[in-house]
Amino acid sequence: MIIVMQAHAEPKQIEAVVNRVEELGYKVHLSRGESRTIIGIIGADEHLIQQSSFEAMDGVEKTMRVMQPFRIASRDFTQQDSIVKVNGVEIGGKRVVVMAGPCSVESREMILETAHAVKEAGATILRGGAFKPRSSPYSFQGLGEEGLRYLAEAREQTGLPIVTEVMSPDEIEVVAEYADILQVGARNTQNYSLLRALGKQSKPVFLKRGMSSTIQELLMSAEYILSGGNMNVMVGERGIRTFETATRFTFDVNAIPVLKELTHLPVVADPSHGTGKWNLIPPIAKAAVAAGVDALMVEIHPNPAAAWSDGNQSLTFERFAKMMQDLRPVAEAVGRTI
Ligand code: PEP
Ligand code: MN
Repeated sequence: MIIVMQAHAEPKQIEAVVNRVEELGYKVHLSRGESRTIIGIIGADEHLIQQSSFEAMDGVEKTMRVMQPFRIASRDFTQQDSIVKVNGVEIGGKRVVVMAGPCSVESREMILETAHAVKEAGATILRGGAFKPRSSPYSFQGLGEEGLRYLAEAREQTGLPIVTEVMSPDEIEVVAEYADILQVGARNTQNYSLLRALGKQSKPVFLKRGMSSTIQELLMSAEYILSGGNMNVMVGERGIRTFETATRFTFDVNAIPVLKELTHLPVVADPSHGTGKWNLIPPIAKAAVAAGVDALMVEIHPNPAAAWSDGNQSLTFERFAKMMQDLRPVAEAVGRTI
């Protein structure tokens, strides 16, 4: 259940409601908006609570039952779009944020060179994998902490915040020491111990949709992080498995408006993994922006043909810069900037 406080309810009134919820033995989730506070009641049997007992309290405007199984992630919980702020970059606002960089950090020089290209093209977040979830144990597994250090150096030089993947709970500490956004990859969308651990720390989390996860499963996974107390979560479509073999995955453009309807969390699209082909990135990126996405994640590489991972779904710097230009009118057509 959620309790919507009146606009500018007094702190004393909010406190009284919180105390009452806790007296009843439930956990409270406070969401303080610009003008009002929303109190979420979390508990397995919260449906037993009498709504009227809270509606009678001072400062309470209304109470609502959240119909969706994901509660804090639900639009019923907060109607306003949530904005995740990362070193001055806002994800979830009017500007469509572009995160770009190589699949894997391969060397200091390549990540520094790429970071400058990302910035020059007008993108605002640098991506790069240091701990890589590879399908084969014999493939390059990432540079680990060394890669994180190079990413941090790239941030120092360019000012671009960095997003990088974390694969297990015991890696969180080291990844969070360097990264600004922690990415959960498609293979870990339902790794609940990782999600729980990410809920207990405060760095923003970019949670990708599993290649076989439904939209509801993705939002339930987001709920694991949110219910742990970390409200800085964004969710992303990165392609799902279908019978189609012409592309690596099938980018589910439907997921974008469906997610925007169901959740207040920022929605990200990854047309690189979503298609597996560099030539399909620009058209699918355009479709994603037109469909209402809040951010894009794109793989780029100084020399895609020589990339250690995902070269065939990476844009050259030149093609990336051109795509950024081409996305501008699309963003404008749907009331956004890029
Ligand atoms: C990645 O971003 O490089 C990656 C491994 O993505 P995904 O988890 O979507 O496959
Ligand atoms: Mn990749």
